[in-house]
Amino acid sequence: MNQFVDSIDSCCPETETGENRQQFASDNYAGICPEALQALFAANAGQAHSYGDDEWTRRAADRLREVFETDCDVYFVFNGTAANSLALAALCQSYHSVVCHTLAHAETDECGAPEFFSNGAKLLTVAGEQGKLTPAAIVEAVTRREDIHYPKPKVVTLTQASEVGTVYSPDELQAISATARQYGLRVHMDGARFANAVASLRLSPADLSWRAGVDVLCFGGTKMGLPVGEAVIFFDRRLAEDFAYRCKQAGQLASKMRFLAAPWVGVLENGHWLRHAEHANAMARRLATELARRTDWPLLFPVQSNAVFVQFPPLVEQELRARGWSFYTFIGAGGARLMCGWDMRPATIDHFLRDVDQLSGSSSR
Ligand SMILES: *Cc1c(COP(=O)(O)O)cnc(C)c1O
Repeated sequence: MNQFVDSIDSCCPETETGENRQQFASDNYAGICPEALQALFAANAGQAHSYGDDEWTRRAADRLREVFETDCDVYFVFNGTAANSLALAALCQSYHSVVCHTLAHAETDECGAPEFFSNGAKLLTVAGEQGKLTPAAIVEAVTRREDIHYPKPKVVTLTQASEVGTVYSPDELQAISATARQYGLRVHMDGARFANAVASLRLSPADLSWRAGVDVLCFGGTKMGLPVGEAVIFFDRRLAEDFAYRCKQAGQLASKMRFLAAPWVGVLENGHWLRHAEHANAMARRLATELARRTDWPLLFPVQSNAVFVQFPPLVEQELRARGWSFYTFIGAGGARLMCGWDMRPATIDHFLRDVDQLSGSSSR
């Protein structure tokens, strides 16, 4: 086993011919981090009770309660779409609405799952600078109409770190949740990259969640280095009533739950999750700094987590793709999104920058 778990390099070696080249397309291109993999092997040592009635699941939930410094209720599901849409469904009746940013994953990338699992709750999208909601935008959405013909606003969902890689400060979170409370709304947080936000702000997970008024957090494991899985964390336990049934009905109750839970135990011990997130953030910062130093291509958002959004000249974008680089251009507000995962090697960034140097001289100016 140890041959797999020593370091990033042994985890995903790049060959001379560029096979196994790391990409910037998504942080879910990365493999399983060593600590999660080790825990997975340990969980495979023998039999265990099924459907979450096992030691690994108990330990993972207890670790999360320690990390968040509160007696929260924890559920493990397979992916972020399920986590978000089931959590939102738990907060809503079918005639309610959910205020979210126009770029929210729940709106743009979940194939209508929040509406489906809530049996019809409507997402009310609002714009906001740098991928973030503001109290004013929420008030506008909530007070737009007050009549019986409009779906009644019930939840605010915000994404931390946001879809464009920015982060909400605790003050911004407090202001949003105060506004939400004022209008009787619950606060849900899509934390697919919560680890990156915590690492970026260097604050406690509690200060960035329940102490800032978040009722339910979908804490992303996958992009953090787990093989699969997200934790749905209810800080107000009353909101979790019957949530286990919701998970089961949606096909999200793993019978061998220990294999979803054990990787959490692995990464939460000794702060490995934060170390990986810090590394990913640092790689993104380095990439952004170097792009800004070497080119005049606009960076579209402040780099506050593990994403860099850059506007490549069209020919450069084409040529980078021709040289084998892959990245998304459909996320956020246009431009190319360059993601750094927990496993991003400095050498990958150097390689990319060499190509950038060759292309920026000729075709960009
Ligand atoms: C990746 C991601 C998710 C989860 O996506 P799944 O593919 O369903 O696991 C949720 N929210 C955001 C902002 C994401 O980037």
